[in-house]
Amino acid sequence: MGRFVLGAKRPLIIAGPCSAETREQTVETAMELARSGKVDVIRAGVWKPRTNPGTFEGIGEPGLEWLNEVKQATGLPIAVEVANRSHVECALKHGVDILWIGARTTVSPFAVQEIAESLHDNKEVTVLIKNPMTPDIGLWAGAVNRLINEGVPRENIGLIHRGFSYFGHSKYRNPPMWHMIFEMRSRFPEMMMICDPSHICGCRPLLYGIAQQSADLCFDGLIIESHNNPDKAWSDASQQVTPQDCITLIENVMWRAKTANDPEFNDELNLCRQQIDQIDSELFDLLSQRMQTAEKIGQIKKANNVAILQSNRWDDICRRMINLTRGMNLSEEFVRSVLEAIHIESINHQNEVMNNK
Ligand code: PEP
Ligand code: MN
Repeated sequence: MGRFVLGAKRPLIIAGPCSAETREQTVETAMELARSGKVDVIRAGVWKPRTNPGTFEGIGEPGLEWLNEVKQATGLPIAVEVANRSHVECALKHGVDILWIGARTTVSPFAVQEIAESLHDNKEVTVLIKNPMTPDIGLWAGAVNRLINEGVPRENIGLIHRGFSYFGHSKYRNPPMWHMIFEMRSRFPEMMMICDPSHICGCRPLLYGIAQQSADLCFDGLIIESHNNPDKAWSDASQQVTPQDCITLIENVMWRAKTANDPEFNDELNLCRQQIDQIDSELFDLLSQRMQTAEKIGQIKKANNVAILQSNRWDDICRRMINLTRGMNLSEEFVRSVLEAIHIESINHQNEVMNNK
C-alpha cells in the first residue's frame, strides 16, 4: 500500500470507533465499515483525553496493534489522536498514516509545539488539526503554523471542524458556529476541511443534518464515530452509530461540486451576485443614513440632558419591525439580531455625539 495522500479523494470519509476498546470490537467494526467500500480511512482513539479521571482513558499501544492488523487486512489507512511526543513516536512505529490533534490539545500551544517538533521535517505523515474547544481562531491557526514552521508540508495538513464548547443551552453537544469555520477557510483556503458530526451533535438523530450541511458548505469530507455495539461503548456511547447506520448516513449525504465550468451556470450565478452586491451597497447606504439620524437624536438628547437608552422606544421598535416583517420570509430570530446590531451601532453614534466635548 502506498503513502496516504491528503486531497487525492474528495469527499474523504473517515470512520471508526471513538476508542479502540478490545481487539474484537476494533477489528469487527473496521471490517464491516471497510467491506462497504464507502470508507477511506479507519479511525480509533487509543489515548483518550477524558474530562473526569477514572473513566476509560484509552487502551494505549495494544490498540495500535489492532489498528495495524485492520490496515493489513483491509488495505485502508489508519488514523489516531496524538497529544504528545511519545504518542507521535508510538503511532509512527505502528504504521499510523494519519495523526489528528484533538480539540483539548489544540488549545495548548505547549502541547502543539511538542507535537510539531516531534514531526520535524516529516514529509510522510498526514496531520489533521481539530478546532480548539473554545471558539478561538487564533489558536487553531497557530497550531497549523507551528506544524508548518517545523517543516510539515502544507499539503499534508488538514482541518477538522468538531464544533465549539459552549456555556448555555444548545441542542448540540458542541454547536457548529459555522462563521468561525468560514474565517478559518479564508485564512487557509487550500486546506482540506473535514466535518466531525459526531462531536458536534453528541447524539445520533442530529448527525445526518450536520453532515449534509457540511457537504452543502463545501467541506471536503467527514469523520464519523462508529461502533459495533454503540450503546455499550466505553466512550461517547450516545453519538456512535453501528457500521450499518454509518454506511447509510454516508450514502445519503449529497456532495456538491466546488465549482462548475458551464458558462450558462456561471452567467446566471454572476447576474445574481451582481444583484446581491447592488442590494448590499444600498443596504449600507441606508444604514449610514440611519446613523446620521441617530446622531441628530443624540444632539437633541444632549441639549435636553436626557439619557441615550429609552427602553420603551426600543421595545416599540422591536414590536413594530417584527410585525412589519411578518410575511417577508425572514425569521424572527434574524430580524431581532439585525435590529440589535443596528441598535448597538446607533447607541455608539449617539454616545459619541453626547460625550464629545
Ligand atoms: C475524538 O475524536 O474521539 C475526540 C476526542 O474528539 P475531540 O478532540 O473533537 O473532542
Ligand atoms: Mn469521541
